[in-house]
Amino acid sequence: MLHGKVAIVTGGAIGIGAATAKILAAQGATVVIGDINQQAGLQTVEQIRSADGHALFQACDVRNEADIQALVQSALDQGGLDIMINNAGIGGQPAPLHLTENHNWQRVLDIDLTGVFWGQKYASQAMLAGGKGGAIVNVASIAGVGGSPNLGPYGVAKAGVIQMSKTGAIELASAGIRINAVCPGWTETAILEGFEPSAHERMIRSIPLKRMGTPQEIAELIVFLASPAASFITGAEYIIDGGITSM
Ligand code: NAD
Repeated sequence: MLHGKVAIVTGGAIGIGAATAKILAAQGATVVIGDINQQAGLQTVEQIRSADGHALFQACDVRNEADIQALVQSALDQGGLDIMINNAGIGGQPAPLHLTENHNWQRVLDIDLTGVFWGQKYASQAMLAGGKGGAIVNVASIAGVGGSPNLGPYGVAKAGVIQMSKTGAIELASAGIRINAVCPGWTETAILEGFEPSAHERMIRSIPLKRMGTPQEIAELIVFLASPAASFITGAEYIIDGGITSM
């Protein structure tokens, strides 16, 4: 379904981003993975290629504007940019907001909010110049939908990502560029590694489906929103969380 399309996935080395890159490639897209983790990024590219997919890795720190511009240029060198998945993100050091260290606040905002801003900005410019429209999917979180105790900067950044997706969607709808946000709940990836086992158990107990999501399940939604099957969907925030926010 995505033959001839070129897609970027930031944070595509592992986790939700790697699962997304693999599905995009399996559907025929050429995928440019941008990540700070070169070793894992190259491994993911290798796995895609060994399944006859097209992928390449480009070192990219989303805190660096020039890295993101170069990432977009890499996609243009492949023939144009059709799909941008702004997925790279970190959780930050858990603490209540009133005890959050300034450097933690800044680090989370730099990666989870400004990094997505640059990704959306330069992808939009490239898509506008290409004149063929495009699809941008920003990976937010349920932490950006409600309050997120002990993850204050993360929740603020993700709420900003949802808002940025909606604003860009309205501004660029007439150019055929769709922008949506995906809001996962707890998902089994490295981002949760800092949590104690007891916290894991508490999380699972709080989820109506009584398990965490898998990267594959989140990636399926991301790719659907990026694909022509979602052609009437823009400016939407999609919650995928095993029911937790419905409580
Ligand atoms: P992960 O830690 O498995 O993967 C994150 C990826 O982002 C890694 O490949 C990492 O190297 C990359 N990355 C980190 N900082 C970067 C930077 N400065 N520049 C470029 N790449 C960078 O985490 P994940 O769970 O797959 O997270 C993917 C996205 O999903 C994030 O935006 C995260 O906030 C969001 N999310 C995750 C969960 C969850 O429970 N796992 C829940 C909600 C939202």
